[in-house]
Amino acid sequence: MLTIAVSKGRIFEEALPLLAAAGIRPVENPNTSRKLILATTRDDIRLVIIRAADVPTFVEYGAADLGIAGKDVLLEHDSAGLYEPLDLGIARCRLMIAAPIDRKLVEGRIRVATKYVKSTQNYFARKGRQVEVIKLYGSMELAPLVGLSDCIVDLVDTGNTLRANGLKPLELIENISSRLVVNKAAMKMKHAAIDELVRILEQEARNVRTQEN
Ligand code: AMP
Repeated sequence: MLTIAVSKGRIFEEALPLLAAAGIRPVENPNTSRKLILATTRDDIRLVIIRAADVPTFVEYGAADLGIAGKDVLLEHDSAGLYEPLDLGIARCRLMIAAPIDRKLVEGRIRVATKYVKSTQNYFARKGRQVEVIKLYGSMELAPLVGLSDCIVDLVDTGNTLRANGLKPLELIENISSRLVVNKAAMKMKHAAIDELVRILEQEARNVRTQEN
């Protein structure tokens, strides 16, 4: 039995066609079912439905053999305990610095509000810039509007959320997409099954990319 950890929402929706290529279709819709363990059309594969930020933890501890997680989440997690064999190319977006349209980032120490503390600290450290990082769990866009911070670091897709709040993107920190992650022990113990799955997902992700171009 292989257990795959995945979060609801955009990652799940975009992962469905890739999983279907491997014959994996959940027998229930996680958006309507309250079940956290979903059987699939393959009796050797089940899905566990968890918060996106928890996927690396479940996989690292072997509670799931594999997982699908955004690079944004993986950058915040110490990924030494995981293999990351495949960029699935789904749920793409950008991790960016953004600030109010009418404001320039001042020289010197600035305050940055974000959920992505590690990525933010690493980015500004690479630039040799002193910042105070304020950890938030959501609604980052609000922080510079009410004087909590000078700017934010958040995921940007269409840019609509920034625009709606009078913010503009300033600098790209990282291009983000979802990755397949694998538990290290499972990679050894269930090598044949995992290897086969990785190859099918890799081929399907490539097909999707070719169709897009
Ligand atoms: P947008 O308004 O299209 O730029 O989307 C930005 C909002 O959606 C932000 O609040 C992000 O946190 C969220 N978002 C966009 N893309 C993703 C993604 N791939 N994974 C998770 N959250 C995302």
